[in-house]
Amino acid sequence: MEKIIIAAMCSVYLLLLRPFRAIAETESKLPNIHIVATGGTIAGLAKSATETSDYNPALLSINTILENAVGFNTIANINSEQFSQLDSTDMTTNDLLALTKRINKLLSDDSVDGVVVTHGTDTMEETAYFLNLTVKSNKPVVLVGSMRPASAISADGPLNLYNAILIAANKVSCDKGVLIAMNDGIYAARDVRKTSTHKTNAFQGTEYGCIGTVQSGVVRYYYNSIKKHTIESCFDIDDLNELPKVEIIYEYIGSSDTLLSNIVRNCEGIVFAGNGNGNLNKDTESFIKSTESLPVLVRSSKTLSGAVQQIEKYKSLGILTADDLTPQKARILLMLALTKTNNLIEIQDFFNEY
Ligand code: ASP
Repeated sequence: MEKIIIAAMCSVYLLLLRPFRAIAETESKLPNIHIVATGGTIAGLAKSATETSDYNPALLSINTILENAVGFNTIANINSEQFSQLDSTDMTTNDLLALTKRINKLLSDDSVDGVVVTHGTDTMEETAYFLNLTVKSNKPVVLVGSMRPASAISADGPLNLYNAILIAANKVSCDKGVLIAMNDGIYAARDVRKTSTHKTNAFQGTEYGCIGTVQSGVVRYYYNSIKKHTIESCFDIDDLNELPKVEIIYEYIGSSDTLLSNIVRNCEGIVFAGNGNGNLNKDTESFIKSTESLPVLVRSSKTLSGAVQQIEKYKSLGILTADDLTPQKARILLMLALTKTNNLIEIQDFFNEY
């Protein structure tokens, strides 16, 4: 009799435990997402709730941000680290190398399903493109920030971050290259840029739009970027401690060769933000014609839209074209290209493929 009572008690206990075990099992089945926090407006605070321009970015820790987040634990098991605490305007090329190395290490761990990087919006597109070319994994890497500080009325940070975690936690996000999650859109790192100083829809894929959306917690994809990225990329920065120096020179009415002549001996590459189809004025052109042993020169366009077409007069001077990359992204690719070769044909191939 005693045995029967004990057996019955055990069954009741096990029955009572079942729902808890079920919850525990569901939790352990949630994807494991690691957040690498670098600062930016998403961690920023202003003096008033209506101030959205004059504020201190990078004040809140990722722990504080997550403590105030609602519902995040139901979509992923979240780990986080405070990698840095920066206004992204202060990001350096050494920061890019360190960030890539950290993300590659995280993603090589089988238990990590995806990485989210919180980042200031000012240079987010540059970091995203650099990671797109140097991360050695097909797992999702999603950059996210906000246009309004955390203290603002209708701060956009919390939902952007929630969406970024959803995107990183979704298996369909694998193999898509590095992504940016802003304002309910999913953007391919290569094609996105910040287009406004203040609007919450600042991030746009311009000619190509967003590749997907997040709406009420549902991640949807519509397009893929076909340019090479991540595991298809030949760029490996594991053993690098610094990147080749590449500068950008802007062309405009009356621009002279003063800047060019000052930097030409101090860098390995120069990207021109040229007029229209990457056009350079007579001063720039004659400086290039009359100077020996120049760094690698690349024409992009200050119009920030459309490919720069190669034309004979620049080809004969050995000036390459950036395809449709913006000047700041052409600089990222040229820095990486120069870690591999100085051969102009090979570097032009990189601009055609990446
Ligand atoms: N200056 C800020 C940053 O890039 C702007 C932002 O995050 O929106 O860190």
